Amino acid sequence: MRIGMGYDVHAFSDGRPLILGGVEIPHSRGLLGHSDADVLVHALMDAILGAMRAEDIGAHFPDTDPMYEGASSVLLLESVAGLMRDQGFRLVDADLVLALERPKVSLHRDAIRQEIATRMSVSVDQVGLKATTTEGLGFVGREEGVAAWAVVLLEQD
Ligand code: MG
Repeated sequence: MRIGMGYDVHAFSDGRPLILGGVEIPHSRGLLGHSDADVLVHALMDAILGAMRAEDIGAHFPDTDPMYEGASSVLLLESVAGLMRDQGFRLVDADLVLALERPKVSLHRDAIRQEIATRMSVSVDQVGLKATTTEGLGFVGREEGVAAWAVVLLEQD
């Protein structure tokens, strides 16, 4: 058994769609990044790579590479899931946390869990998601950005 943890932050920006866990969430602003800035999927990929002791997403998908400009992060997640399986690992469980003031994620929780489960070819029961505010404190509280954490448990053959 291996555990992995991932963390990521992206800043809000006008004129961008808000993509969380591969699902477009209606909001006045989105997140800024080289890819689609899917902060939740980035944290999850880093958790998986961490458990595999396989560096991090910056090493696998450099943000200096034009190939990943505007990239859909769930496609990158599919690639990480494939790498995981190729190396004999299986996802036992994942739990994810989003910190943001707005918009409310609970309405989209199951859609996000399902999207991630589908991209990873696992059951939706293996993907947990919670969202919290920070009670107005810090960059999340000022609505400057979104933070995400992920923990995963992998089993190796
Ligand atoms: Mg990121």
